Amino acid sequence: MKQITVVGSGVMGKGIAYTSVVAGYKVYLNDLTEEILSKAKKEIDALLDSSFEKGYLQQEQYDHAKENLFYETDLERAAKDADLVIEAVLEKMDVKISVFKKLDSICKPEAILATNTSTMSPTEIGAQTSRASQVVAMHFFNPVHKMKLIEVIRGLETSDDTVQFVKEVTASFKKEAVEVNEFPGFVTSRMNCLIGNEAMNMLMEGVASARDIDNAMKLGLNHPMGPLELADLVGLDTRLRNMEYLYATLGEKYRPCPLLIKYVKAGRLGKKSGRGFYDYE
Ligand code: NAD
Repeated sequence: MKQITVVGSGVMGKGIAYTSVVAGYKVYLNDLTEEILSKAKKEIDALLDSSFEKGYLQQEQYDHAKENLFYETDLERAAKDADLVIEAVLEKMDVKISVFKKLDSICKPEAILATNTSTMSPTEIGAQTSRASQVVAMHFFNPVHKMKLIEVIRGLETSDDTVQFVKEVTASFKKEAVEVNEFPGFVTSRMNCLIGNEAMNMLMEGVASARDIDNAMKLGLNHPMGPLELADLVGLDTRLRNMEYLYATLGEKYRPCPLLIKYVKAGRLGKKSGRGFYDYE
């Protein structure tokens, strides 16, 4: 196991590429344009530099990372030699399926294909490939370089060997895996989306300000972040797609809060756009 290819260089793809290269792998990061990738490179380089300066990375890790992370818009060049591909494109089933179909035709027969979906079905994605037993979900958390958990979600046809393989990769990242049988939203998104949506409903109803809702959850219930701060970190467009999928699959309880829909329509996407429930400018 030598090469990991990460598809999508947004909030999560950048963090997964950073974590993979720091763990000693050769890494290709793929996205649609040079412009998107050069923005990703700037952010990853800044994180490598600050982690090294703060003593979180050893000299060898830093040197390896600087020499072994490649940015590539051509998916074939990025993925043809990969042992593991981790997809982190938009939370839209049609986009994910089109990426997996291409990967299936490009990648080595033995390569494992993982999706970082927050809610969706690795079974549905795997069924569109000729290697359903080698398709699995690896659900990372944001920010990836800090968060310890990876949920490993087994689709209907995912083999024991594939699950074992991604658990070993998880350990090589110095992270912990929990194994989950596929069901919409797995463990964490199913729970977290509900808490976040309730916080948004409270804000909309005027129960308390965003700051007070978040402080109540932090100081009273010992959550490390408030649910509205967390939604801003995730990205409100991504959170809305998660809610829409959970609403479609699990029902009424997950109906997206109208305030969330309104914010996304206004382009208030959270931290990545400079404004969400809070102002980051
Ligand atoms: P994002 O919008 O920040 O980034 C998505 C990236 O994918 C963009 O850079 C886009 O240009 C790229 N992309 C789109 N189509 C592509 C294609 N065909 N080929 C290559 N690149 C393509 O999204 P994100 O927040 O990083 O989320 C990515 C995935 O990770 C989603 O499935 C999401 O549900 C999941 N996830 C997100 C979080 C989070 O906190 N944001 C946490 C866990 C999981």
